[in-house]
Amino acid sequence: MKATIRLLAFLLAAGLALPLAGAELKAPPKLKVVTTTEDLAALTREVGGERVEVEAIARGYQDPHFVEAKPSFILKLNRADLLVLVGLQLEQAWLQPLITQSRNPRIQVGARGYLDASRTCEILEIPTGEITRAMGDIHALGNPHYWLDPANGRRIAEAVRQKLTELRPADAGYFQQRFDDFSRRLAEAEQRWDAAMAPYRGRRVVTYHRSWPNFAQRFGLEVVGYVEPKPGIPPSPSHTLDLINFMTQEGIPLILVEPYFDLKTPKAVARATGAQVVVLLPSVGGEKEVTDYFQLFDYDIRLLTAAFQRVER
Ligand SMILES: [Zn+2]
Repeated sequence: MKATIRLLAFLLAAGLALPLAGAELKAPPKLKVVTTTEDLAALTREVGGERVEVEAIARGYQDPHFVEAKPSFILKLNRADLLVLVGLQLEQAWLQPLITQSRNPRIQVGARGYLDASRTCEILEIPTGEITRAMGDIHALGNPHYWLDPANGRRIAEAVRQKLTELRPADAGYFQQRFDDFSRRLAEAEQRWDAAMAPYRGRRVVTYHRSWPNFAQRFGLEVVGYVEPKPGIPPSPSHTLDLINFMTQEGIPLILVEPYFDLKTPKAVARATGAQVVVLLPSVGGEKEVTDYFQLFDYDIRLLTAAFQRVER
């Protein structure tokens, strides 16, 4: 009897002691990060690795200016430690109500868990002078499609590294090592992308929306016209006619279209001018196989260089 009690006591003590030891060894819960776009999610994963749990609100094949605010996002935002957004009014139409309804003080505008990724990036097309409605759905703070320059991708990753370190100082070394590794791989990829695009520097293209100023600047393309008469305004017959005349006169060979726009007008313009339509991805997730930041540029540059080769044969 005594022996049994002693054994029982031993087992209880061991049973109690084991979970305690286990808890001590167990890693802290992952930081929960919500990003507005898949590009920001991809960059956050590069830095955060297995110490973060990242989810994007907008899918890469959706127009990030207009995202349907599903209630499930509110729950995700409610639990988030960190919200990373593009800023510059890209998410103006849909993000603020989600933040408010999340009732999460950690991610409210200006809180510690609110990271506007545009803050440390090179921003183009910052308007000077007065902005009027006649200018269309213009981005008053500059062009928000800035992640399409790898130099800005690196800046976003660095801002994420700083923020994750602030939220989880014990993991500072881990985040630093992951950032350094990402930055090195990006530098290698940039050499490859630059070499692929080098033969086409100075080429002129037309795009549907103003999504590509940073990409064009980085890789030496010149965007000389848009299918949209003004940002966010759908094609009009008179603008389309002007565009056809201009492209014919100037011999512009390519029309780059984001995957969420109707191809009807771009195709009509292409038929009238002999140009080709290329559906280029502005975001990770634009196609199923494009699952990270590197694959985004790999995909776009492969498509672009193939298109230039076709039209210049
Ligand atoms: Zn835009």
